[in-house]
Amino acid sequence: MGNYVVVGAGIAGAVIARRLAEEKNGRVWIVEKRSHIGGYCYDERSEDGILIHRYGPHIFRTDSAKVWSFLSCFTQWHDYQHKVLTNVNGMNLPMPINLDTVNGYLGSHYTSENVMEYFERRRTHPEQIRSVKDVVESQIGPEFYHAFFEKYTEKQWGMPCDALPPEIVARIPIRTNRDDRYFTHRYQALPKDGYTRMIANILSHPDIHVLLNTDYEAVRRAVSPDHTYYSGPIDEYYDYRYGKLPYRSVSFQFETLPINRYQPAAVVNYPNNYDYTRITEFKHFYGRMVSGTVIAKEFSHAGGDPAYPIPTKENLALYEKYAAIPNSSVTFIGRLGAYSYYSMDQIVEKILDMEI
Ligand code: UDP
Repeated sequence: MGNYVVVGAGIAGAVIARRLAEEKNGRVWIVEKRSHIGGYCYDERSEDGILIHRYGPHIFRTDSAKVWSFLSCFTQWHDYQHKVLTNVNGMNLPMPINLDTVNGYLGSHYTSENVMEYFERRRTHPEQIRSVKDVVESQIGPEFYHAFFEKYTEKQWGMPCDALPPEIVARIPIRTNRDDRYFTHRYQALPKDGYTRMIANILSHPDIHVLLNTDYEAVRRAVSPDHTYYSGPIDEYYDYRYGKLPYRSVSFQFETLPINRYQPAAVVNYPNNYDYTRITEFKHFYGRMVSGTVIAKEFSHAGGDPAYPIPTKENLALYEKYAAIPNSSVTFIGRLGAYSYYSMDQIVEKILDMEI
């Protein structure tokens, strides 16, 4: 038994709410300031029935059988292998960089056996890998770094690559074969009826009550829960007492077009041109056979709703100061609560492993 408040109805809030209701027989109130559940995973159908990810492309993947089987209680899955192209020198080339990217970019005929010789001759040898620039240049050399990573990363994060930690690009491998999948996890799929439906199913429990359009500040003093789980920004929770933690925000320009297909893959990155980082065309996700299409141009900027923590040393040190504030009544969860560049499965895994 017990009364719990969960702040935020995203994937983190939903999973913890479900555990509290089921394992603790608790009564759970979820406070959500937006008018919908789902957080950044929120999706909805266009007029043509295409599922649109309102806050950018979310591709579910995990190596964890535990995470997969937990979520499988709340959704069926649509098999999907994510493919990303990157537009460099007017060509759409596979991303992550693979053999076809190299040969397409250079106009060369390298094979899987000898392509590493090209990178071996060009890669740098920094004493220490301190930044995105160091890690990428030390694998593929300055020319490929410059063409494929430097400007994309600077657009995305609003900082120079030599000031950004190498972990930011850790999820992007360099391949010598022709594998053009973005992810190679054991499980990869999209919820059959979308993330919003899956999260609604997680929340569908008689002891879970969702309060939409509700500001936590407004209820903070009125309720006295046994425990609170907070998935918003940790600095905001503490009224920025040590200063603001930097976040990157994203905005989307959606366009509905009367054409069958806009681009050859679900996502095309634009590292070197335009103000947007990438374009997503949603009908690729579910292969829906409708005549029109919907795309979203994605812009990265400072100063909007926080989406990406920026994990530089200084920012992480500031986060640690907040995290060290003694507080036995609140647990911080999710990407913003933990100030970590978590993917969806990492968020779920942390919460499933958490002692409650
Ligand atoms: N990245 C890049 N060029 C690309 C794709 C990714 O430089 O064409 C870098 C960039 O710094 C980006 C990071 O790799 O922020 C992670 O990319 P991913 O697409 O996985 O990020 P997300 O989908 O979370 O924005």
